[in-house]
Amino acid sequence: MPVLRIRGYALPDGEPVDLYADGDRWTDDPVPGAELAAEGWLLPGLVDAHTHPGSELPSDPLDEDMLRADLTAHLAAGVTMIRSPGLAGDPPAWFGQDEGLPRAVHAGPWLAQHGQFFDGGGRKASPQDLPALAAEQAARTGWAKIIGDWGPGDEPVPAEVLTAAVAAVHAVGGRLAVHTNHAAGGAAAVAAGVDSVEHGMWLDQDLVARMAETGMALTPTLTVINGNLAMLQQGQDGPRKDWWAGGAARHPALIAAAAEAGVTILAGTDSRPHGKVADEIRALAAAGLSPHQALAAGSWTARSFLGLGGLVPGAPADAVVYHADPRADLGVLDSPRAVILRGRLASPRR
Ligand SMILES: [Zn+2]
Repeated sequence: MPVLRIRGYALPDGEPVDLYADGDRWTDDPVPGAELAAEGWLLPGLVDAHTHPGSELPSDPLDEDMLRADLTAHLAAGVTMIRSPGLAGDPPAWFGQDEGLPRAVHAGPWLAQHGQFFDGGGRKASPQDLPALAAEQAARTGWAKIIGDWGPGDEPVPAEVLTAAVAAVHAVGGRLAVHTNHAAGGAAAVAAGVDSVEHGMWLDQDLVARMAETGMALTPTLTVINGNLAMLQQGQDGPRKDWWAGGAARHPALIAAAAEAGVTILAGTDSRPHGKVADEIRALAAAGLSPHQALAAGSWTARSFLGLGGLVPGAPADAVVYHADPRADLGVLDSPRAVILRGRLASPRR
Protein backbone atom coordinates (compact mmCIF):
# COMPACT_ATOMS: atom_id res chain seq x y z
CA MET A 1 0.00 0.00 0.00
CA PRO A 2 1.52 3.38 -0.97
CA VAL A 3 2.28 5.96 1.67
CA LEU A 4 -0.46 8.53 1.89
CA ARG A 5 0.15 12.24 1.45
CA ILE A 6 -2.02 15.28 2.18
CA ARG A 7 -1.44 18.85 1.14
CA GLY A 8 -3.19 22.13 1.75
CA TYR A 9 -3.92 24.68 4.44
CA ALA A 10 -3.97 23.24 7.94
CA LEU A 11 -6.09 24.66 10.73
CA PRO A 12 -5.85 26.17 13.29
CA ASP A 13 -3.17 28.34 11.65
CA GLY A 14 -4.20 28.04 8.01
CA GLU A 15 -0.54 27.59 7.06
CA PRO A 16 0.38 25.46 4.04
CA VAL A 17 1.45 21.92 4.93
CA ASP A 18 2.59 18.89 2.97
CA LEU A 19 2.50 15.78 5.12
CA TYR A 20 3.19 12.08 4.65
CA ALA A 21 1.85 9.26 6.76
CA ASP A 22 4.73 7.26 8.14
CA GLY A 23 2.50 4.51 9.53
CA ASP A 24 0.38 6.29 12.12
CA ARG A 25 2.62 9.40 12.34
CA TRP A 26 2.73 12.50 10.16
CA THR A 27 6.10 13.45 8.77
CA ASP A 28 7.15 16.29 6.49
CA ASP A 29 10.03 14.22 5.06
CA PRO A 30 8.91 13.55 1.47
CA VAL A 31 8.33 9.86 0.76
CA PRO A 32 8.99 8.86 -2.87
CA GLY A 33 5.98 7.31 -4.56
CA ALA A 34 3.54 8.63 -1.96
CA GLU A 35 -0.05 8.91 -3.13
CA LEU A 36 -1.77 12.28 -2.77
CA ALA A 37 -4.97 11.37 -0.91
CA ALA A 38 -6.51 14.79 -1.05
CA GLU A 39 -5.72 18.45 -1.20
CA GLY A 40 -7.61 21.36 0.34
CA TRP A 41 -8.37 22.69 3.80
CA LEU A 42 -7.20 20.30 6.50
CA LEU A 43 -8.32 19.61 10.05
CA PRO A 44 -6.66 16.99 12.25
CA GLY A 45 -9.94 15.05 12.25
CA LEU A 46 -13.15 15.96 14.04
CA VAL A 47 -13.78 14.92 17.65
CA ASP A 48 -17.09 14.07 19.27
CA ALA A 49 -16.27 14.47 22.95
CA HIS A 50 -19.63 13.34 24.30
CA THR A 51 -21.20 10.39 22.54
CA HIS A 52 -22.66 7.09 23.76
CA PRO A 53 -22.44 4.61 20.89
CA GLY A 54 -23.70 1.04 21.09
CA SER A 55 -27.16 1.31 22.63
CA GLU A 56 -30.47 3.06 22.10
CA LEU A 57 -30.82 3.77 25.83
CA PRO A 58 -28.38 3.64 28.73
CA SER A 59 -30.56 0.88 30.19
CA ASP A 60 -30.19 -1.37 27.11
CA PRO A 61 -27.32 -3.85 26.91
CA LEU A 62 -24.30 -2.70 24.89
CA ASP A 63 -24.74 -4.09 21.37
CA GLU A 64 -21.48 -4.76 19.51
CA ASP A 65 -23.02 -4.50 16.03
CA MET A 66 -24.65 -1.19 16.90
CA LEU A 67 -21.39 0.01 18.45
CA ARG A 68 -19.55 -0.75 15.21
CA ALA A 69 -22.26 0.91 13.09
CA ASP A 70 -22.32 4.02 15.29
CA LEU A 71 -18.53 4.38 15.14
CA THR A 72 -18.64 3.88 11.36
CA ALA A 73 -21.14 6.76 11.13
CA HIS A 74 -18.82 8.96 13.17
CA LEU A 75 -15.87 8.18 10.93
CA ALA A 76 -17.81 8.84 7.72
CA ALA A 77 -18.59 12.29 9.16
CA GLY A 78 -14.88 13.00 9.65
CA VAL A 79 -14.65 12.02 13.31
CA THR A 80 -11.35 10.30 14.08
CA MET A 81 -11.58 10.46 17.89
CA ILE A 82 -14.43 10.14 20.35
CA ARG A 83 -14.82 10.30 24.09
CA SER A 84 -17.67 8.30 25.61
CA PRO A 85 -18.50 9.70 29.04
CA GLY A 86 -20.71 6.72 29.84
CA LEU A 87 -21.45 3.52 27.96
CA ALA A 88 -24.21 0.94 28.34
CA GLY A 89 -21.59 -1.60 29.42
CA ASP A 90 -17.90 -2.37 29.33
CA PRO A 91 -16.95 -2.26 25.64
CA PRO A 92 -15.18 -5.05 23.74
CA ALA A 93 -11.37 -4.97 23.52
CA TRP A 94 -11.47 -3.67 19.92
CA PHE A 95 -13.17 -0.43 21.00
CA GLY A 96 -10.75 2.41 20.20
CA GLN A 97 -8.21 -0.11 18.85
CA ASP A 98 -9.82 -1.32 15.62
CA GLU A 99 -7.78 0.38 12.90
CA GLY A 100 -10.87 0.98 10.73
CA LEU A 101 -12.81 2.78 13.48
CA PRO A 102 -12.19 6.05 15.35
CA ARG A 103 -9.86 6.29 18.28
CA ALA A 104 -11.81 6.29 21.52
CA VAL A 105 -11.59 6.86 25.23
CA HIS A 106 -14.43 6.01 27.57
CA ALA A 107 -15.60 6.19 31.14
CA GLY A 108 -17.30 2.79 31.25
CA PRO A 109 -20.86 2.76 32.60
CA TRP A 110 -22.28 5.98 34.08
CA LEU A 111 -22.01 6.25 37.89
CA ALA A 112 -25.09 7.63 39.61
CA GLN A 113 -26.82 7.89 42.96
CA HIS A 114 -29.62 5.43 43.67
CA GLY A 115 -32.90 6.73 42.30
CA GLN A 116 -31.30 9.02 39.70
CA PHE A 117 -30.40 8.56 36.03
CA PHE A 118 -32.26 6.02 33.81
CA ASP A 119 -33.88 3.08 35.60
CA GLY A 120 -31.61 0.10 35.02
CA GLY A 121 -28.89 2.24 33.39
CA GLY A 122 -25.34 2.78 34.66
CA ARG A 123 -23.98 1.71 38.06
CA LYS A 124 -25.90 2.99 41.05
CA ALA A 125 -24.33 3.63 44.44
CA SER A 126 -24.67 5.69 47.58
CA PRO A 127 -22.89 9.05 47.35
CA GLN A 128 -20.17 7.99 49.81
CA ASP A 129 -19.26 5.04 47.56
CA LEU A 130 -18.95 7.10 44.35
CA PRO A 131 -15.31 8.23 44.82
CA ALA A 132 -13.97 4.66 45.07
CA LEU A 133 -16.10 3.46 42.15
CA ALA A 134 -14.96 6.40 40.04
CA ALA A 135 -11.30 5.69 40.87
CA GLU A 136 -11.69 2.00 39.96
CA GLN A 137 -13.21 2.95 36.62
CA ALA A 138 -10.61 5.62 35.87
CA ALA A 139 -7.81 3.21 36.73
CA ARG A 140 -9.17 0.89 34.01
CA THR A 141 -9.88 3.39 31.24
CA GLY A 142 -8.57 6.83 32.18
CA TRP A 143 -12.01 8.40 32.70
CA ALA A 144 -14.96 8.11 35.05
CA LYS A 145 -18.31 9.83 34.74
CA ILE A 146 -20.59 10.76 37.63
CA ILE A 147 -24.18 11.93 37.26
CA GLY A 148 -23.91 14.96 39.54
CA ASP A 149 -27.60 15.74 39.40
CA TRP A 150 -30.66 14.46 37.58
CA GLY A 151 -34.31 15.51 37.70
CA PRO A 152 -35.88 18.62 39.23
CA GLY A 153 -36.00 18.28 43.02
CA ASP A 154 -33.35 15.52 43.18
CA GLU A 155 -30.47 15.94 45.63
CA PRO A 156 -27.23 16.66 43.74
CA VAL A 157 -24.06 14.77 44.63
CA PRO A 158 -22.54 17.01 47.36
CA ALA A 159 -19.42 19.05 46.56
CA GLU A 160 -17.42 17.19 49.22
CA VAL A 161 -18.21 13.85 47.56
CA LEU A 162 -17.19 15.20 44.14
CA THR A 163 -14.03 16.66 45.71
CA ALA A 164 -13.17 13.23 47.12
CA ALA A 165 -13.95 11.66 43.74
CA VAL A 166 -11.63 14.10 41.93
CA ALA A 167 -8.83 13.32 44.41
CA ALA A 168 -9.34 9.54 44.07
CA VAL A 169 -9.54 9.66 40.27
CA HIS A 170 -6.51 11.93 39.95
CA ALA A 171 -4.56 9.68 42.32
CA VAL A 172 -4.82 6.88 39.75
CA GLY A 173 -3.92 9.24 36.89
CA GLY A 174 -7.48 9.49 35.55
CA ARG A 175 -9.94 12.26 34.84
CA LEU A 176 -13.48 12.86 36.01
CA ALA A 177 -16.44 14.05 33.93
CA VAL A 178 -19.61 15.17 35.71
CA HIS A 179 -23.10 15.45 34.27
CA THR A 180 -25.03 18.43 35.63
CA ASN A 181 -28.10 20.38 34.55
CA HIS A 182 -28.95 22.24 37.78
CA ALA A 183 -27.33 25.29 39.38
CA ALA A 184 -26.44 23.50 42.65
CA GLY A 185 -24.94 20.46 40.90
CA GLY A 186 -22.96 22.69 38.57
CA ALA A 187 -21.64 24.75 41.47
CA ALA A 188 -20.60 21.54 43.26
CA ALA A 189 -18.77 20.26 40.15
CA VAL A 190 -16.86 23.52 39.71
CA ALA A 191 -16.02 23.74 43.43
CA ALA A 192 -14.72 20.16 43.30
CA GLY A 193 -12.44 20.91 40.35
CA VAL A 194 -13.74 18.17 38.06
CA ASP A 195 -12.02 17.78 34.69
CA SER A 196 -15.08 18.30 32.55
CA VAL A 197 -18.61 19.55 33.08
CA GLU A 198 -21.07 17.75 30.80
CA HIS A 199 -24.11 19.75 29.61
CA GLY A 200 -23.83 22.41 32.33
CA MET A 201 -27.36 23.71 31.84
CA TRP A 202 -28.15 26.24 34.62
CA LEU A 203 -24.47 26.63 35.47
CA ASP A 204 -23.96 30.00 37.17
CA GLN A 205 -22.25 32.26 34.64
CA ASP A 206 -20.12 33.73 37.43
CA LEU A 207 -18.28 30.39 37.64
CA VAL A 208 -16.78 30.48 34.15
CA ALA A 209 -13.73 32.47 35.26
CA ARG A 210 -12.91 29.79 37.83
CA MET A 211 -13.42 27.06 35.23
CA ALA A 212 -11.01 28.79 32.87
CA GLU A 213 -8.41 29.25 35.63
CA THR A 214 -8.43 25.57 36.51
CA GLY A 215 -8.43 24.28 32.92
CA MET A 216 -11.86 22.70 33.30
CA ALA A 217 -13.68 21.77 30.10
CA LEU A 218 -17.35 22.37 29.31
CA THR A 219 -19.19 20.10 26.87
CA PRO A 220 -22.45 22.02 26.37
CA THR A 221 -24.24 19.42 24.14
CA LEU A 222 -26.36 22.28 22.82
CA THR A 223 -28.01 20.31 20.00
CA VAL A 224 -29.47 17.75 22.37
CA ILE A 225 -30.55 20.39 24.86
CA ASN A 226 -32.44 22.16 22.08
CA GLY A 227 -33.80 18.83 20.82
CA ASN A 228 -35.13 17.89 24.27
CA LEU A 229 -36.69 21.33 24.58
CA ALA A 230 -38.60 20.84 21.33
CA MET A 231 -39.81 17.46 22.64
CA LEU A 232 -40.84 18.82 26.06
CA GLN A 233 -42.72 21.71 24.47
CA GLN A 234 -45.10 19.14 22.98
CA GLY A 235 -45.77 17.72 26.46
CA GLN A 236 -47.59 18.89 29.54
CA ASP A 237 -46.70 21.95 31.60
CA GLY A 238 -44.94 21.50 34.91
CA PRO A 239 -41.64 21.82 36.76
CA ARG A 240 -39.77 19.59 34.29
CA LYS A 241 -40.77 21.68 31.30
CA ASP A 242 -40.04 24.95 33.14
CA TRP A 243 -36.62 23.69 34.22
CA TRP A 244 -35.65 22.66 30.74
CA ALA A 245 -37.10 25.68 28.95
CA GLY A 246 -35.36 28.07 31.36
CA GLY A 247 -32.05 26.24 31.12
CA ALA A 248 -32.16 25.95 27.34
CA ALA A 249 -33.00 29.64 26.99
CA ARG A 250 -29.92 30.72 28.93
CA HIS A 251 -27.56 28.02 27.61
CA PRO A 252 -26.27 29.86 24.48
CA ALA A 253 -25.26 32.92 26.57
CA LEU A 254 -23.51 30.66 29.08
CA ILE A 255 -21.55 28.92 26.30
CA ALA A 256 -20.53 32.26 24.79
CA ALA A 257 -19.46 33.59 28.21
CA ALA A 258 -17.45 30.44 28.90
CA ALA A 259 -15.66 30.68 25.56
CA GLU A 260 -15.00 34.38 26.13
CA ALA A 261 -13.49 33.57 29.54
CA GLY A 262 -11.19 30.99 27.96
CA VAL A 263 -12.93 27.80 29.13
CA THR A 264 -12.08 24.77 27.00
CA ILE A 265 -15.29 24.09 25.07
CA LEU A 266 -15.80 20.60 23.64
CA ALA A 267 -18.31 19.62 20.96
CA GLY A 268 -20.41 16.64 21.98
CA THR A 269 -23.61 15.28 20.45
CA ASP A 270 -24.81 13.01 23.29
CA SER A 271 -27.70 11.40 21.44
CA ARG A 272 -28.48 9.32 18.41
CA PRO A 273 -28.07 9.31 15.43
CA HIS A 274 -24.28 9.29 15.40
CA GLY A 275 -22.01 11.21 13.04
CA LYS A 276 -23.66 14.58 13.72
CA VAL A 277 -20.87 16.55 15.39
CA ALA A 278 -20.94 19.09 12.54
CA ASP A 279 -24.43 20.08 13.75
CA GLU A 280 -23.06 20.70 17.24
CA ILE A 281 -20.15 22.75 15.85
CA ARG A 282 -22.67 24.89 13.97
CA ALA A 283 -24.87 25.16 17.07
CA LEU A 284 -21.87 26.40 19.08
CA ALA A 285 -21.25 29.02 16.40
CA ALA A 286 -24.91 30.02 16.52
CA ALA A 287 -24.53 30.43 20.31
CA GLY A 288 -21.85 33.05 19.73
CA LEU A 289 -18.55 31.26 19.28
CA SER A 290 -16.56 32.35 16.26
CA PRO A 291 -16.42 29.68 13.54
CA HIS A 292 -12.75 29.23 14.49
CA GLN A 293 -13.65 28.62 18.16
CA ALA A 294 -16.49 26.28 17.24
CA LEU A 295 -14.21 24.24 14.99
CA ALA A 296 -11.59 24.12 17.76
CA ALA A 297 -14.22 22.62 20.07
CA GLY A 298 -14.87 19.85 17.55
CA SER A 299 -11.31 19.34 16.39
CA TRP A 300 -7.87 20.52 17.47
CA THR A 301 -8.69 21.76 20.97
CA ALA A 302 -10.65 18.60 21.74
CA ARG A 303 -7.82 16.47 20.39
CA SER A 304 -5.33 18.31 22.52
CA PHE A 305 -7.59 17.92 25.59
CA LEU A 306 -7.61 14.17 24.89
CA GLY A 307 -3.84 14.01 24.36
CA LEU A 308 -3.57 13.94 20.57
CA GLY A 309 -1.56 16.33 18.42
CA GLY A 310 -2.66 18.22 15.33
CA LEU A 311 -1.33 18.38 11.77
CA VAL A 312 2.33 18.51 12.72
CA PRO A 313 5.21 16.10 12.22
CA GLY A 314 5.17 13.38 14.86
CA ALA A 315 1.45 13.60 15.59
CA PRO A 316 -0.95 10.70 14.95
CA ALA A 317 -1.81 10.52 11.23
CA ASP A 318 -5.45 11.64 11.27
CA ALA A 319 -6.98 14.30 9.03
CA VAL A 320 -10.15 15.40 7.39
CA VAL A 321 -9.90 17.33 4.14
CA TYR A 322 -12.42 19.88 2.80
CA HIS A 323 -12.60 21.69 -0.52
CA ALA A 324 -12.93 25.10 1.16
CA ASP A 325 -12.07 26.85 4.42
CA PRO A 326 -14.69 25.62 6.94
CA ARG A 327 -14.27 28.86 8.91
CA ALA A 328 -15.83 30.71 5.99
CA ASP A 329 -18.70 28.23 5.70
CA LEU A 330 -19.31 25.59 8.39
CA GLY A 331 -21.59 23.88 5.86
CA VAL A 332 -18.53 22.36 4.17
CA LEU A 333 -18.21 20.05 7.21
CA ASP A 334 -21.03 17.97 5.69
CA SER A 335 -18.97 16.94 2.68
CA PRO A 336 -15.42 15.99 3.54
CA ARG A 337 -13.25 15.25 0.53
CA ALA A 338 -11.31 12.63 2.46
CA VAL A 339 -11.05 11.26 5.97
CA ILE A 340 -7.72 9.85 7.05
CA LEU A 341 -7.40 7.69 10.14
CA ARG A 342 -4.13 6.20 11.35
CA GLY A 343 -2.45 7.07 8.06
CA ARG A 344 -5.05 5.34 5.92
CA LEU A 345 -7.89 6.61 3.78
CA ALA A 346 -11.07 5.96 5.69
CA SER A 347 -13.61 6.97 3.07
CA PRO A 348 -13.64 7.15 -0.70
CA ARG A 349 -12.63 10.45 -2.25
CA ARG A 350 -15.54 12.55 -3.45
ZN1 LIG B 1 -24.47 11.92 27.77
